[in-house]
Amino acid sequence: MLFSPIEYLKGVGPLRGDMLKKELNIFTYKDLLEHYPLRHLDKTKVDKIRSINFNADYVQVAGKLMHFDIVGEKRSKRLVAYLQDDTGEIELTWFQGINWVTKTLHTGHHYLVFGKVGSFMGKIQIVHPEIEPYTEEKAGGKKFLEPIYPSTEKLKVRGLNGRMLAKLTYALLQQLSPKDLPENLPESIIKQYRFISRWEANCHIHFPATEEMYKHAVRRLKFEELFFAQVRLGLIRSTRHRFSKGWIFDKVGDFFNTFYNEFLPFELTNAQKRVLKEIRKDAGSGKQMNRLLQGDVGSGKTIVALLSMLIAADNNFQSVLMAPTEILAQQHFNGITAVLGTMNIEVRLLTGSTKTKERKEILTKCEDGSLHILIGTHAVIEDKVQFKNLGFAVIDEQHKFGVAQRAKLWKKNSLPPHILVMTATPIPRTLALTAYGDLDYSVIDELPPGRQPINTIHRFESKRPQVMDFLRQEIEKGRQAYVVYPLIEESSKVDYENLMKGFEEVKSFFPEPKFWISMVHGKQPAEQKEVNMKRFVTGDTNIMVSTTVIEVGVNVPNASVMVIESAEKFGLSQLHQLRGRVGRGAEKSFCILLTGNKLSAEAKERLKILCATNDGFAVAEKDLEIRGPGDIEGTRQSGDLNFKIANIVQDRIMLEAAKEAANVIVENDPEFTMAENLPVKEYLQWQKGKTIWSKIS
Ligand code: ADP
Ligand code: MG
Repeated sequence: MLFSPIEYLKGVGPLRGDMLKKELNIFTYKDLLEHYPLRHLDKTKVDKIRSINFNADYVQVAGKLMHFDIVGEKRSKRLVAYLQDDTGEIELTWFQGINWVTKTLHTGHHYLVFGKVGSFMGKIQIVHPEIEPYTEEKAGGKKFLEPIYPSTEKLKVRGLNGRMLAKLTYALLQQLSPKDLPENLPESIIKQYRFISRWEANCHIHFPATEEMYKHAVRRLKFEELFFAQVRLGLIRSTRHRFSKGWIFDKVGDFFNTFYNEFLPFELTNAQKRVLKEIRKDAGSGKQMNRLLQGDVGSGKTIVALLSMLIAADNNFQSVLMAPTEILAQQHFNGITAVLGTMNIEVRLLTGSTKTKERKEILTKCEDGSLHILIGTHAVIEDKVQFKNLGFAVIDEQHKFGVAQRAKLWKKNSLPPHILVMTATPIPRTLALTAYGDLDYSVIDELPPGRQPINTIHRFESKRPQVMDFLRQEIEKGRQAYVVYPLIEESSKVDYENLMKGFEEVKSFFPEPKFWISMVHGKQPAEQKEVNMKRFVTGDTNIMVSTTVIEVGVNVPNASVMVIESAEKFGLSQLHQLRGRVGRGAEKSFCILLTGNKLSAEAKERLKILCATNDGFAVAEKDLEIRGPGDIEGTRQSGDLNFKIANIVQDRIMLEAAKEAANVIVENDPEFTMAENLPVKEYLQWQKGKTIWSKIS
């Protein structure tokens, strides 16, 4: 019943059906039922026209339709109707559907009008209001809550406004009975949370008997949605745990021990130790590991990866470490070979620019097993690279790697290698639970000791000379500086022009030969980028002017100042990533956010947060609050994030509860064999079997 095509519903038909599909993605009865109201309107509450003010949001007024006017021509042509009650007059305006409106509304009649308040030439008006005949009975009738549904302008002019949607939904509920919406939660959960039944929830979410019932309905439906998302993710994870065999690393041997005891230049932080334990446990379990490792910039993820790769070597397995760019791969290689010192272990670098002769040598060593660790760009997963016994793969800065690329890794050995995905884009825990719930998850939530917090300051464009003076002082003390320009689109000409202009400007403040400047951007040939980058890394240049290509992973400890140009154009998380390039050495570090003099309230808020905290997770939480879950970097564009009623930011506490409840079931009864879990199983099957089919129109 619920999967019947929407056009079969009485009052819909093929034409409206098409509109509902196109405009609101409503294909079936079920989709309509899940098109939840925005709010409810107390029908007995009618505003007096005189008491409406310009700042009101939505109003409901009742009055007599006095007359119509057609105003303007062609594009600006509109219909204005004048509605009067005993206190005043208000204008109702239509830009579209004028013929339809003049046909259905009649002067002299009374109407109930609902809509968003706007103003035009100093007069209050409602554009495209929802309107229906007003009767005495309605005015004096008993209090009831009418649902208001989200609709679109196109639907409204076809008469499919929020009120019509209410009528359709009402008709639908009349046709349904409790057996169409059988219980889908286990009895114990319903008892524990005192939920109303699924049937009741679906009725009262649309047509609540009382506000209290509405709240109950919302609670239940939100929980349901979060719970089933977590069950699905949990099942993927548990299936992997139960069925995907992995290599067993059961010993810690000479490579690890020698390095740990003789070469490791610092004490691991507790967080690093904990994560290492988690990885060892996974890799020793006989199941394939798929672990996401999150840690703020500078939290020391690389050493954890290296120690894991040494354990792989101790168990006679080879490892790869993939980085998204050549510069990063090179840096990993340099860093890792430096820290490994004189240890007897074979580590090589393979990128697109590795020379043929060396490449051949590396490929041979991969194949004969004499190479332990291969570091590189995506070149390491090309088909030509064959391993004798690949057992461990580290992917750094994962969001730059596609799923298809990752899949290639799996085919490099008879069993897939253990996979450690590292990301420095802090993802709020709530988002990680939903976006990455199918992966195992580790966090390094502690920075190595002795780090100086980065001093972040916001300055307006008008203060540029002072900012440049400050830069000069720092450079004269021997430090280096970054000046970063926004690059919104790789191909945007304007952005590049700005970068070039910026470069010239910086040059005019810092003339050669007293100062030297490097410039790096995405359009340069790889070699040129490399050379410019190296000159900065080695300290030959004082300033690095760049686009966001330096965003990820670059490590120049002597660089202690960063100026971010047009900082208002960057997202919060991105700004945080960028500033992570400084504060890597012992010196006090600064990040100066330069912006235009005019800022939106949201931009101000973003800059304020950044100046107030250095904690990447706090920044990410705020970012999530401001932008909502859809836009956060480092998360998959996952359908799982598009909740219909739940909101992972506002409903975090419920998300945690839903996850816990889901985990208990998935861990104890993954096949849903217990009688009590049968409703869950049936609901999952019911959804799986039908939803996909229903979307094909
Ligand atoms: P990220 O997590 O951003 O990749 P890195 O792994 O590059 O961070 O580490 C940043 C710096 O911190 C490196 O220079 C590294 O040697 C250093 N580091 C890592 N762990 C520790 C530690 N426990 N104590 C001191 N320094 C550390
Ligand atoms: Mg890193």
